[in-house]
Amino acid sequence: VSAERFDVLIVGAGHGGAQAASALRQHGYAGTVALLGDEPHLPYERPPLSKEYLSREKEFERLLLRPERFWQDKAIALQLGRRVTRVDASAHEVVTADGLRIAYGSLIWAAGGSPRRLGCAGADLAGVHGIRTRADVDAMLDELTHAQRVVVIGGGYIGLEAAAVLRKLGRQVDLVELGERVLARVAGPEISRFYEAEHRAQGVRLHLGTAIEALEGSNGRVSAVRLSNGARLPADLVVVGIGIQPAVAPLLEAGAQGVDGVSVDARCRTTLAGVFAIGDCANHVSAYADGRRLRVESVQNANDQATTAALELCGKGSDYDALPWFWSNQYDLRLQTAGLSLGYDETLLRGDPARRAFTVIYLKQRRVIALDCVNSPADYVQGRKLVQARIAPSRELLCDPAVPLKTLVA
Ligand SMILES: Cc1cc2nc3c(=O)[nH]c(=O)nc-3n(C[C@H](O)[C@H](O)[C@H](O)COP(=O)(O)OP(=O)(O)OC[C@H]3O[C@@H](n4cnc5c(N)ncnc54)[C@H](O)[C@@H]3O)c2cc1C
Repeated sequence: VSAERFDVLIVGAGHGGAQAASALRQHGYAGTVALLGDEPHLPYERPPLSKEYLSREKEFERLLLRPERFWQDKAIALQLGRRVTRVDASAHEVVTADGLRIAYGSLIWAAGGSPRRLGCAGADLAGVHGIRTRADVDAMLDELTHAQRVVVIGGGYIGLEAAAVLRKLGRQVDLVELGERVLARVAGPEISRFYEAEHRAQGVRLHLGTAIEALEGSNGRVSAVRLSNGARLPADLVVVGIGIQPAVAPLLEAGAQGVDGVSVDARCRTTLAGVFAIGDCANHVSAYADGRRLRVESVQNANDQATTAALELCGKGSDYDALPWFWSNQYDLRLQTAGLSLGYDETLLRGDPARRAFTVIYLKQRRVIALDCVNSPADYVQGRKLVQARIAPSRELLCDPAVPLKTLVA
């Protein structure tokens, strides 16, 4: 027997889940809506976890996506601290870890992912931290008061942002990256080299092209990181930022199709009747990647897919076709990205990296497919339109900082 039933049940109370619930009400949805999530907190912003929350410049209350009364006012039933362990797609029910069965008319799966763990010995020692939730960062901040030597594993956005904050907090920071350059998954070599130089100048010791052999411990707590090149880095604390594992097990077990997340169509529908998936866990076809299937891990993608699913449920559906955009803050550098650089065949440099304000433009068959803008907000705002227009302006004009990008759109 089900304890409850909701016309729309949203699983995951993060960026995507919160936006799906508010978008439903905003577009006039009148049925019952529940937002269920395993974290005990009201929905909050995740990006500051590796930025202003880690540096203690922002308190948790300022991270809340909406004040508590918003959820009451909009008649959105919050079910926090509750985890879904099973989906029964034929009965249209979910089962929670505390044994509750909740029935749904439609289900929106917005469960994100959990940090990938190291496969080596010592990965479970105390003092080894991922950064995905408030609880992760609170645990780390507690230990940080006694930790001077920090090893960051992974040179993606999260590892680099954490390294920047930890340097600002005066910690000794070693950063180990398996690839030959940082940010290799998301940016071209020009951006990688710039950020490597920046981190070195700030005192981060970079170990590129280096694997982790093992983590060593004493009394159950991490004490050092052993590298593939034989080096041994003493460590009071280890931060691991090596990507996420999409949280889709209950959906796949229920029969949904998916490789690397769960597959969705252009309306964010999975292959299970009445079940949508959005955000970090949704493997979708992207018009900005030549129709390839991929997952995109960003606030933009979570929000826009949430709106797509909500509109579909309101009978106003249209296909997901939003321009991907990202940002990352490190030191005094604000990186803003428009588009996906995946599969580019040429890059152009606009502006001067030495002046700490420049843009890398990614072309594919001469068309602008993406821009990485460092401290160049005007290029970012105007460059978005170039990507959306899918046009091929002259290289010379693109590279000339005296020519505003907006003049190239027409
Ligand atoms: C440290 C950090 C920094 C980031 N910085 C940026 C940035 O600068 N810019 C940017 O665009 N993006 C950034 N991101 C990425 C962005 O936060 C994510 O893309 C976004 O949160 C994805 O939204 P989501 O709804 O898919 O997942 P989430 O926001 O992760 O929400 C998923 C929620 O579901 C819960 N959950 C999982 N499984 C279950 C279950 N079985 N039952 C119940 N609840 C469950 C999770 O605990 C979580 O609360 C950052 C992410 C992190 C971790």
